[in-house]
Amino acid sequence: MSKQEQKRLVVLGAGESGVGAALLGKQQGWDVFVTDGGTLKDIYKTTLTEAGIVYEEGGHTMESILNADCVVKSPGISEKVPVMKSIRGAGIEVCSEIEFGYRYKGDSKIIAITGSNGKSTTTKLTYHLLKDAGYDVAMVGNIGYSFARQVAEKPCEWYVMEISSFQLDDIHYFHPDIAVLLNITPDHLDRYDYKFENYVRSKFRIVENQTHADFFITNYDDKVIMDHLTNHSINSQTIFFTMSDQQQPGEGGFVNDENMHIRVDNEDLNMSIHDLTIKGRHNQYNSMAAGISARIAGIRKEKIRESFSTFEGLEHRLEFVATVRGVDFINDSKATNVNSVWFALESMKQPTILILGGQDKGNDYNEIMDLVKEKVKAIVCMGIDNKPIHDAFDSAIEDVIDTASAKDAVRAAYAMAEKGDAVLLSPACASFDLFKNYEDRGRQFKDAVHEL
Ligand code: ADP
Repeated sequence: MSKQEQKRLVVLGAGESGVGAALLGKQQGWDVFVTDGGTLKDIYKTTLTEAGIVYEEGGHTMESILNADCVVKSPGISEKVPVMKSIRGAGIEVCSEIEFGYRYKGDSKIIAITGSNGKSTTTKLTYHLLKDAGYDVAMVGNIGYSFARQVAEKPCEWYVMEISSFQLDDIHYFHPDIAVLLNITPDHLDRYDYKFENYVRSKFRIVENQTHADFFITNYDDKVIMDHLTNHSINSQTIFFTMSDQQQPGEGGFVNDENMHIRVDNEDLNMSIHDLTIKGRHNQYNSMAAGISARIAGIRKEKIRESFSTFEGLEHRLEFVATVRGVDFINDSKATNVNSVWFALESMKQPTILILGGQDKGNDYNEIMDLVKEKVKAIVCMGIDNKPIHDAFDSAIEDVIDTASAKDAVRAAYAMAEKGDAVLLSPACASFDLFKNYEDRGRQFKDAVHEL
């Protein structure tokens, strides 16, 4: 392609997805320019330099941006920043990285998973089912490489993709062969002008471009999803999963008498929920979603059943840490909202000491009040501002005590625990007041347990 014909791709934001889009653009013959208002990680600088891609950091040179034919915007960048306003004002096409990757994916197939909770688990499980069955498959999106980078560097026949609502915000043609929408609960509302409807609409964009040949797998028990189904024109074949006894679908997933059933193509995959390696009701939902996807992808039910029993869950998600003198310690540091804590508590079989707290995003603790009263012996707050937790639970639970480090929280919980109890870190809050991120919080918790 001569320089005159070459189209210009501007990538705004050089994180994993931005760098992936830049690499794919370069490979496909675009004139690529990467611009980031902050500083780039060294690893990304090296990658871009080695690929011969021009970049800038610490600000945006508008004349190098407004001559773009297409702008790939990183999902973390808000529409409200001045550079985005200028790009929109100039009428330049803006697309997300998954949209850009989609244009070059060829005949390969996509299973895309979204929802407020359970995305990573379901993505990893679905990937495991396909990989174990010998498929040529990559796990992309928020887990691992970005989709665009995978398409550029190691294209596969199948992509299992974890996507957030932000990544769906600038799609035009992107459509997964199999779309999974796990659940919708209020989250990230700051990005949607605090309008829940906008967030819901954004999640539903996963089905927007689907055709009759595609599948949409979703949660019959999620009231928000069910209420909104009729507001969206859905062309794909909708398949539900549910826990409700009343709703045993001809096709889809359900749990009955502690057995999980997955019915696709008139075949019933049936297995005890106790044979699933990941525990809790939420993981039964995740397993049904992954299992239905795998069946649609053509994997035999016997193989899926076998693979379910070899799946290793993810770190920081109801992760069993250790038993210390009869007390079980469980790390659920990834539970950063109240809904996740609900599922964690629901899965607890023993009297529990719950470690809660961190940066509160406006939690409504009433949602877990019944489960707390039923299962929780004591609450250990672990945060800088524990007032919201005290306000919610002081009248319901005798011991609600304050700590301000993982070590102190573990020690305090252990001191109150008796043989047969569990200590559950499931904080319902972001971690940034005391920790770098939820991984750091989970690791410090585990270290503190191992030091007991
Ligand atoms: P995500 O990638 O959407 O953040 P994860 O798979 O990392 O989801 O799980 C995060 C937390 O959400 C887990 O610790 C668990 O407590 C909770 N969770 C997982 N799956 C579900 C589900 N299907 N419904 C509700 N909560 C869930």
